[in-house]
Amino acid sequence: MSVVTRTRSAVAPLRRQFVAYPVRRPTVDQVVAADRPEEPIHCLRPVAVAETAHDFVQAFPGDVLYAVKCNPDPAVLRALWDGGVRHFDCASLPEIRVVRDMFPDAAIHFMHPVKARGAIREAWARHDVRDFVLDSADELAKIRTEVAATGVPGALGLIVRIALPKGSAKLDLSGKFGAAADEAAGLLRAARGCAAMLGVSFHVGSQCLDPLAWRDALALTGQVIQASGVKLDVIDVGGGFPVAYPDQEPPPLGAFFAEIEAGFERLDLPGTRLWAEPGRALVAAGTSVVVQVQARRGDALYINDGVYGSLADAGTLGFRYPVRLIRPDGDPAAAGTIGFSLFGPTCDSADMMRGPFRLPSDVAEGDWIEIGQLGAYGGCLRTAFNGFDRARIVEVGDKPMLETPYKAGPLQIAA
Ligand SMILES: *Cc1c(COP(=O)(O)O)cnc(C)c1O
Repeated sequence: MSVVTRTRSAVAPLRRQFVAYPVRRPTVDQVVAADRPEEPIHCLRPVAVAETAHDFVQAFPGDVLYAVKCNPDPAVLRALWDGGVRHFDCASLPEIRVVRDMFPDAAIHFMHPVKARGAIREAWARHDVRDFVLDSADELAKIRTEVAATGVPGALGLIVRIALPKGSAKLDLSGKFGAAADEAAGLLRAARGCAAMLGVSFHVGSQCLDPLAWRDALALTGQVIQASGVKLDVIDVGGGFPVAYPDQEPPPLGAFFAEIEAGFERLDLPGTRLWAEPGRALVAAGTSVVVQVQARRGDALYINDGVYGSLADAGTLGFRYPVRLIRPDGDPAAAGTIGFSLFGPTCDSADMMRGPFRLPSDVAEGDWIEIGQLGAYGGCLRTAFNGFDRARIVEVGDKPMLETPYKAGPLQIAA
């Protein structure tokens, strides 16, 4: 008896269902006017994503690796490439395959500290991945064994991830990955003997509002390097660069880069390169989601997207997003605003986003709302729970609802 298993696409959930749909409209308002959508629509601004990537790549004093998990949609990856991103931080084989299929020349780095053996072999032998992160001696041995087993020659790059103490980021990542400082020094020594390229990495946590977090992390990195006594080729300062939300105004990106450059110079490591792995900072502002109001009860709106869809971070984490009422027939909205909470479409009472989200006081059933800053950790977190997995993507030419706080210069996209 044979068992047939079905797999579904892991990294492009918005394209999981084929729906005949125009893929481009000039503006979000025209999307709503023409389609009157009853399902969530992701409105991607490819030019804004490309410009943001361009600014980051221009301003960061090293190589910029895009953290693919944040938004793996092919249209987003294309926009990042157009903006000058050539390095990709992947954590799984499906992410690696998507990037390699699209960009034969991309530099792909396998940055998950705990990998399946087969994933290491396929990444190395079939997708030309040469750099692997690790945070334990077991993983180092695993990588060496599996790379050797492929019989494919190449220059192995190893990056030791160090753990940071819990910091000031909105999303703390210190508990799961990373070697303690003393252990990391030993790992660096062990890895140096078998690596053509050796690096050290850390992650300060996501949506980190404090540039000094990188100063502290670089100081700790310096202690680890000194204790190890080996020469490093790369220091990878991770992701975590913040974007604006209605209640969070981060310092400009330049303040983060200045702190990183200063901290790096203090380490005095000539010949060592800097890497960064931004996710959110590159793509958050580039996508909004248009939802429809299906019911209003007091100051609560029942909408067609929620925490099991694109709004996961608005649930337990309480993220607030910029919102805008859309009435395609031109009916005027009330002048005054009030703070609304939102309920998602599933039957789970946890499918609730307390906000508050400030909208005109007369929002009613049938209205549409555009919710901004959802290009990061939005569409990629959608589930099929309760049957509400349909969402579509359309490309628009609007500006982001909230601007990024830093600009480097004009971008020319080749035709
Ligand atoms: C998620 C992740 C990133 C991206 O983080 P952002 O906060 O979105 O910038 C970078 N590096 C690693 C290892 C990650 O897990």
